[in-house]
Parts: sequence; C-alpha cells; structure tokens
Amino acid sequence: MQLRAGAGPTDAGTVLAGIGGGPLLRPGAGLYLHVPFCFHKCHYCDFYSIVDTRDRQGEFTKRLIAEVRALAKATQRPRLATIFVGGGTPSLLAVGLWQELLAALAEAFDLSGLVEFTVECNPETVSAELMAVLAAGGVNRVSIGAQSFHAQHLKTLERWHDPANVFKAVELARAVGIARQSMDLIFAIPGQTMTEWDADLKAALGAGTTHLSCYALTYEPNTAMTARMKKGEFSQMPGDLEADMFEHTLSTLRAAGLERYEVSNFAKKGDECRHNLAYWRQHDWLAAGPNASAHVRGVRWKNIQRLDDYLNKHVRDFAMVTDVEYADAVRNLSEAVWTGLRLAEGIDAAQTLAAADAAKGGMAEKIMRVARRQMELGAIVRVDDRWQLSDQGFMIADAVAVAFLEVIE
Ligand code: SF4
Repeated sequence: MQLRAGAGPTDAGTVLAGIGGGPLLRPGAGLYLHVPFCFHKCHYCDFYSIVDTRDRQGEFTKRLIAEVRALAKATQRPRLATIFVGGGTPSLLAVGLWQELLAALAEAFDLSGLVEFTVECNPETVSAELMAVLAAGGVNRVSIGAQSFHAQHLKTLERWHDPANVFKAVELARAVGIARQSMDLIFAIPGQTMTEWDADLKAALGAGTTHLSCYALTYEPNTAMTARMKKGEFSQMPGDLEADMFEHTLSTLRAAGLERYEVSNFAKKGDECRHNLAYWRQHDWLAAGPNASAHVRGVRWKNIQRLDDYLNKHVRDFAMVTDVEYADAVRNLSEAVWTGLRLAEGIDAAQTLAAADAAKGGMAEKIMRVARRQMELGAIVRVDDRWQLSDQGFMIADAVAVAFLEVIE
C-alpha cells in the first residue's frame, strides 16, 4: 500500500502497514516512550506535560503497555538498540508501574542488542527503590534535569527541586550500577552571571557526569516565562552575554574532556547519547505515549497529544496520530541537512549532493554554491568529505542550516 498525504485521521498501525516491504525497522532502531506527568509545571516548559495527581498513572501505564505490544507485533518484535523514556517526568511513575512497564518491554521486544536505555529523572523524584527497579529492568543511563545549582535561578524558572538532590540522584544511580548519568543545564536565565554559570558547569563536572546538555533559556510562546517577561517581571539576558556563556561552555567542557557532538550536547568520547544521535542521523524509531513522535524509513508521525484522547481513542491498541509526513525526497533531504549540520560530525558532502540530484535537477549545484559561501565565511569546514560547522559556525548554527534549506525547499 502506498501512503498519501491528506488521507485524514489515522492510527500508527495503519501508517506502519503502509510502509511495508521487508523488515520495517532498519538495524539500530530505537523506541521512545513519553510519560506526560509532572508534579509541577516549570514556567519555561512547552513540552506536553500535565500536573500529576497520581490518579491516572495506572490507567496510563496500562494503555502505554497495550500500545507498546501493538507496535512490537506490527514490526515483528524488532531488535532494539536504544530506548529513551522522556516526558514529562518519567521518574514520577510509581515503582510498581515501572515494574509492569519494564517487564512488558522485555517481553514485547528483542532487547538482546540493547546498548542504551535512558530514563529522564527529576532529582526530586529519585529514590533508591526506583533506581534499583530501573537497573534491574536494564536501564543503564539516567538523564537528570539539574538546570541550575542556584536556588534563586531555579525559583525564576519555577523549577521545584533542591539542588542538593541532583548529587543524591547521581549517587543513587551509581549505587545500583546505572553507569551513565547525564545532566541538563540551562544558561541565560535572567539575572544569572557568568560566575554563576561557570559554577554550574563545574558543579556538574564535579559530580563526575560525562554527558551534559546545555541549553540557552528560550522564551516559547504560551509559556508562563514569556508572559512574565512581557509583564516586565524581568528582561531577557543581553545577547552578547548569552553568546559569551555559550563560548565559555565550550571551552570549560572541552578542557574537562567533554567535546561538543551536537549544538547543545557535550560528552566524553563514547558517552554520546546514542538514542538522540539516531534522531539526528535519521535512523528509525518507534514511539508510544501521548504526543510522542516516530520515524520509520522517511515517514514521520506524532501520536495524539491530549491524555484523555490518548487514553480513549485508539484503534487495535495503536494510538491515533496527527501530522503524518510521508516519505518525500526533498523533505527528507532538508531534514537530513537540518539535523545533520547540528552534529559535530556534520553531513557527508557527496551523499548530500547525490540526494539533491535525485530530488530535483539543479539543486546539487545550488547546494554546492551555499557550501562554498559558508566555507568562505568560516561557518563550515570540509573535513574528510564532510561539511562540518566550525566553532564560529556553531554560534549561528540555525542561520547556516537555513542558508542550505533555502535552496532545498
Ligand atoms: S519537569 Fe520537565 S517536562 Fe515537566 S514541566 Fe518541568 S521542564 Fe516541563
């Protein structure tokens, strides 16, 4: 069956059935699970999450397990390389529900080749009991939302946790053998100084983390943070200080042996997040849970967002999906360039030009002109037939990618 855009509301099972032709998932495939509950809504957050009152966790987990089983069956129990459970706050799920979910995953999928299994954790919700259950279920990496080690900045973000619990969470994970701990940090918080940002980086390194995701605070539409700024409660950090913080991040982490492998992600060699690399390299991944996005062989889709809809509207246990994007040479090329350029490894020049040639006559020449111009400007460099952002190019990564996209779309 050939899939066509504009076919109306559908479900993930129908989309998968339409891809057809041999094993659906290519080797190295991943699985993303979305847990939508949080115990409080942080003011900067525009992810799909709802404040948990613990009364819907059981119903949600039951539904998630049914969806996981349906996806595994439709894809012939594939061998997964990575699993990532994000949210929301996955560590908020009750321990007994985690046990059920982990057992269902082990039964539904072939996990014999699993190299990475990550669970996102809020430091406030990490317990020894939870860590022991996660480790026993194969979790070998936690991603801890530290954001800042300064209580006043967490307050500005309306982020509810005690900074001391970040270190406790790291210790609890290590104690049960979860060897890899990543941390998320935010910079460019209103009122934050360079000295404080430096202290945050050093605190994370001091805890022995070998993977850090460092994001500049962004003001997304419809967040409380943006509304508060518009009301004049605080003002956005000046652009030059934010840029200095970005540069300081690179030099500090590089000196500590953590290299940038994506615009906002730094790791010791070999400790990069393999699941996220698979996203950026356009590999295949399945997704379960409300608002979770999947990609299989150039086809993308997203599960229905609202929890109520997710719980009540499904077809043969598959979630209803929105935003289905069917395989298309031009769209696939622009996605490969957009995500690939964000990686330190960059994009393969010959492959990009061949894909451009196949997509549209004359496009390869235009791409080559853009690449030459960006090299003259010092934004990209050519290394081993790959186009890669320079340190300067990383400062303007979006603008460089847009220059390419303008001739692709
Ligand atoms: S814990 Fe994470 S997902 Fe939940 S509201 Fe805060 S930032 Fe958003």
